[in-house]
Amino acid sequence: MPLLYWLKKTGIDILNCENMSMSSKPKLAVSSCLLGKKVRYNGDAAEFRPLNRIWSEHLELIGVCPEVGIGMGVPRPTIRLVKNEERISLIDPKNGHDYTDAMLEYAEIQSDFLVASGISGFVFKKDSPSCGLERVKVYRGDNPQAVRDGAGLFAKVFTTLYPHIPVIEEGRLTDALQAEHFLARVHFFHEWQTIGEEGWTASKIMKFHAEHKLFLLSRAPDSKRMLGRIIAEGFDNDEHPENVALKYMTEAQKNLSTLTKRGRIAHAMERVVGRLPQISKPAKKELLEVIHSFRRGLLPRSAAMILLSHHINQHDANNPIHKNFVSPIPMEIGLMAKV
Ligand code: SF4
Repeated sequence: MPLLYWLKKTGIDILNCENMSMSSKPKLAVSSCLLGKKVRYNGDAAEFRPLNRIWSEHLELIGVCPEVGIGMGVPRPTIRLVKNEERISLIDPKNGHDYTDAMLEYAEIQSDFLVASGISGFVFKKDSPSCGLERVKVYRGDNPQAVRDGAGLFAKVFTTLYPHIPVIEEGRLTDALQAEHFLARVHFFHEWQTIGEEGWTASKIMKFHAEHKLFLLSRAPDSKRMLGRIIAEGFDNDEHPENVALKYMTEAQKNLSTLTKRGRIAHAMERVVGRLPQISKPAKKELLEVIHSFRRGLLPRSAAMILLSHHINQHDANNPIHKNFVSPIPMEIGLMAKV
């Protein structure tokens, strides 16, 4: 069966993606309705415009609709999560039809397929009993009042199987700080994928960690030492480098799931300034003043980063530690000017 025909049948749409092999742009899986696909139960879409209009220039977007994937079609009846004792099921409340097993099987196969194709993150549609990551309505027995304490079944399977891959709901992407931080996690993950593509070795892991120290310091300062310990313990225990690399990324993404603060970014910027010994006193003073203004919220991060990049390029152009810190996401996405 031709690949594209099979993908359509299984609820996958591909934007800007000629094939599913590794490429230089990170691949992002997205709930299809967010990409403007009319796949919702009522035949509508729920387009989140920045994805199609801006993000698609820098990322390959792969749309996935789990409900279409299990053969529900469009339009279709609405389904809901129902909890009986400890089991949560995906049910059509009108006729009691149970879609749980079909969704669990689909989610496992499709998650494996997406990860094998090299996705670096997943944007899920909030509130959906299939795609929502958190606070999804769960009904108890016949009680008409739902409690918002569930996760969509497909999203739950994906995040359980692959906790090292960054995920977010589109509702959070309306906040520039959250969007920038998520994209930085995606690019960090993509770099890890690219470096590990031909297999991990001890020296590759240590190099990756060393080259991302400033990035980690600016986003999740406590994780730096913890990740160093994971590497050291892994090799003390003769663990396979692939296992160590996976543990490393799982722990890193867990730590990075908390939003960073201005002060942490500004602190990391000042560390870079301290590593530029050739910089003249007046230039250093000006740079520190700009960083201080950013810290106080008087200037956007892009202003301080551009000036910092200018001095890095003059004095220390090829140091990947600095590059990974000052360019965690493409400047053209415009988020650095808003945070
Ligand atoms: S929320 Fe998920 S299951 Fe529902 S229409 Fe969107 S992609 Fe399909």
